[in-house]
Amino acid sequence: MAKTISKKKSNTIKLNFDTSWSYAPAPESKSAATINKQYDLFINGEWVKPSGGKPARLNDDSRSGGYFDTINPANEEKLSEVAEANVADVDKAVKAARTAYEKVWKKMPAKERAKYVFRISRMIQEKARELAIIESLDGGKPIRESRDFDVPTAANHFFYYAGWADKLEYAFPNRKTESLGVAGQIIPWNFPLLMAAWKIAPAIATGNTVVLKPAETTPLTALKLAEIIQESDLPPGVVNIVTGAGATGAAIVNHPDINKIAFTGSTDVGKIIQRAIAGTNKKATLELGGKAANIIFEDAPIDQAVEGVINGIYFNQGHVCCAGSRLYVQESIAKQVIKKLRDRIESLIVGDPLDKNTDIGAINSRQQLETIHKYLDIGKKEGAEMYQSSCSLPGRGFWCRPTLFTNVAQSNRIAQEEIFGPVLAILTFRTDDEVIEKANNSPYGLSAGVWTDKGSKIFNMTRRMRAGVVWANTFNKFDPSSPFGGYKESGFGREGGLHGLLPYLNLVN
Ligand code: ADP
Repeated sequence: MAKTISKKKSNTIKLNFDTSWSYAPAPESKSAATINKQYDLFINGEWVKPSGGKPARLNDDSRSGGYFDTINPANEEKLSEVAEANVADVDKAVKAARTAYEKVWKKMPAKERAKYVFRISRMIQEKARELAIIESLDGGKPIRESRDFDVPTAANHFFYYAGWADKLEYAFPNRKTESLGVAGQIIPWNFPLLMAAWKIAPAIATGNTVVLKPAETTPLTALKLAEIIQESDLPPGVVNIVTGAGATGAAIVNHPDINKIAFTGSTDVGKIIQRAIAGTNKKATLELGGKAANIIFEDAPIDQAVEGVINGIYFNQGHVCCAGSRLYVQESIAKQVIKKLRDRIESLIVGDPLDKNTDIGAINSRQQLETIHKYLDIGKKEGAEMYQSSCSLPGRGFWCRPTLFTNVAQSNRIAQEEIFGPVLAILTFRTDDEVIEKANNSPYGLSAGVWTDKGSKIFNMTRRMRAGVVWANTFNKFDPSSPFGGYKESGFGREGGLHGLLPYLNLVN
């Protein structure tokens, strides 16, 4: 921190503080994590070589011989190579899941099933440090996020659903429940371990078996989870983890012996999946994109609201489907809020994801960085005013400065489309009716936030907003007992809480 003291003639002393703070680096140690050079497919409790042949994703030279690289987006170095499952491999995994379902898992007393789910939760806790490091290495998110949010919340999901396994008669009083069979689960790259936990925990607690595919850019923590599952002695075939890209996902979706698809990812792929399963009796839950409105009223505690906005869009690089990427500020306080936001983004630390001081890590992939840059250009061309922090960015890897746009119109693409990066579009409003109209004017409806001093206003807003989750005077808070899911193009079905049991059960009487 630079500090100069200038003595003027009038004898007044003026202090000029440089606004940029530099913290000493505090990197987490990579040596606390073990990453294999190569990972096979986890099928029937064993590591199985991919059958190889033509890579499932064509036109990609990095894929050959049945394996593909996974890299660290903060420096583009290769971390490991991972098997690519083709249709035959997926079929093997589904068969293993079916056999485990029929022969073991569906017959097992629920209280016994619960013990395995609980054991997985405990083992995630025991390996929390290693999992957090691998999550940050493979995905680029700051260690503070993976250590304090992703990994503990993943463990909590297993713990929470272990508790429900033998209490389904209390979850659905006077109803008899029946598991569905084999669930195909496809997850994205923004919360790799947490999404795996969201999907696997309720599925197996309710007596189903699973074939799960992590995203191609972030497979490593799901593969670590496979190691944990193997160590936990979960009966072979109850959880199978296959890696690969879109074609591997499609092989799961189209497999005739899958009873349920649980998907989190883009709205475009969600639509493909919905078309693919139309006319089959596969059940589905889809958790898709979002463009959350974060609304600040003039009576809100402004500093807390500004911090909530920062947390909602910048931490995690904006790689969150429920990120508060649209900010609506009441006109009377807009100038003040925008100034505070500009000052605050100037102080955000962008850099090494393993450094405990880092606020904003690396963008997950080159492709995602290109998408973000495309939207920055669109925003400028649409006439919005762009402001970025002046921080310097590392030379290698995929990085984006925290960015905000002012003078944004409701119809601008940066206010309508999901960017999935640290980019905030700021709009203003005068009345409650106007902001409700604007906030709901979106193809999405996953989440929203309201900042106000008045409880009555909170209830009025939450009642009228078409969003699956509305946070009040906070943002991006999660708990395994709370359901999460969307309206409109953000998908359907709920994950988490008691609601999250239902997609994995039939109520039979
Ligand atoms: P994102 O834009 O967040 O990467 P995607 O929807 O492209 O979201 O990817 C989410 C997950 O869906 C990933 O695991 C990806 O491999 C998988 N996927 C991509 N295309 C398909 C498809 N056609 N069918 C099934 N899964 C797919």
